[in-house]
Amino acid sequence: MDPASAIPYGRKTQRAPALQEVHILWITAGLGCDGDSVSITAATQPSIEDVLLGAIPGLPKVHLHNPVLAYENGDEFLAPFHAAARGELDNFVLVVEGSIPNEKINREGYWAAMGTDPKTQEPITIPQWLDRLTPRALAVVGAGTCATYGGIHAMQGNPTGCMGLADYLGWNWKSVAGLPIVNVPGCPVQPDNFMETLLYLLYQLAGLAPMIPLDGALRPKWLFQRTVHDGCDRAGSYEQGLFAKEYGTPNCIVKLGCWGPVVNCNVPKRGWINGVGGCPNVGGICIGCTMPGFPDKFMPFMEQPPGAVLSSNLIRSYGGLIRSLRKLTNSTLNEEPKWRHNRSRLTTGYSR
Ligand code: SF4
Ligand code: SF4
Repeated sequence: MDPASAIPYGRKTQRAPALQEVHILWITAGLGCDGDSVSITAATQPSIEDVLLGAIPGLPKVHLHNPVLAYENGDEFLAPFHAAARGELDNFVLVVEGSIPNEKINREGYWAAMGTDPKTQEPITIPQWLDRLTPRALAVVGAGTCATYGGIHAMQGNPTGCMGLADYLGWNWKSVAGLPIVNVPGCPVQPDNFMETLLYLLYQLAGLAPMIPLDGALRPKWLFQRTVHDGCDRAGSYEQGLFAKEYGTPNCIVKLGCWGPVVNCNVPKRGWINGVGGCPNVGGICIGCTMPGFPDKFMPFMEQPPGAVLSSNLIRSYGGLIRSLRKLTNSTLNEEPKWRHNRSRLTTGYSR
């Protein structure tokens, strides 16, 4: 049999990606809690397993180097990081988790480090890793609010002077491939938000998608353009002036501390895992954990946001009227039309 004819005709739809293989070097050793690494194991669209096993054809083969999930240990785990720093690995994406400590304020010692420098036998700090790896990375991705904007560790009064990736590298920083820093905030990052962004970057590296669209805070636009309130299913209560006075009611919780109307996040619309869970949609105030101003600009969390006083009072003034008008209409819509009966005369209005 002719070997060429043994190849299915449908193979014509397959194209080799522009980049055959990609390494994802994931540093979890910033000032962080590894919550984002844990979070992405809950993703389903795509799952981490889908990406690693190449469930979507036509994309680069992915080699993930994340210490929470790696088979390798110790020096063996660190080998690709050292190889990349020496310039021996040029096809890698760097993911950073945790805030970047300010090591300039240390006289000796270090705030956070990963591995040991073979030459000096000193721990390699996170800024040193960034200095070695970012000039060679195809893309640099911040996973979670700490890596993106500093987050909870960069709170007022912290001793480390820590910051996010763009504060360290510069907001106009570009990779060798021309990509800006890609920020995927969230504390932790919503599982599918991160995996979707990673998937987009794989499409882009494969040559199958245009430049990733980011907003002014370097967040993927399709995920962070809208507010929490835009996607909250309690917004109907808000609009009708129904505000909860205590936790546990199905009404809008703005008066209990929800910052949803001014926070960019899709969690209530998307749910947490497989559409289940979230924040204000299921009764937990939005504390603005995706925002560059988090947490200081939102504290104390359980007090009503200042802007909410005015807007909720205004809405309350007409919400009651709208509610009673809707109730009236609703009760008529809950009644069937009068021609649906089993009497012997047709009353639908039909005529021959
Ligand atoms: S609970 Fe928060 S996000 Fe939801 S409607 Fe009320 S203010 Fe908006
Ligand atoms: S809804 Fe608010 S608290 Fe919940 S993940 Fe989004 S920003 Fe964070």
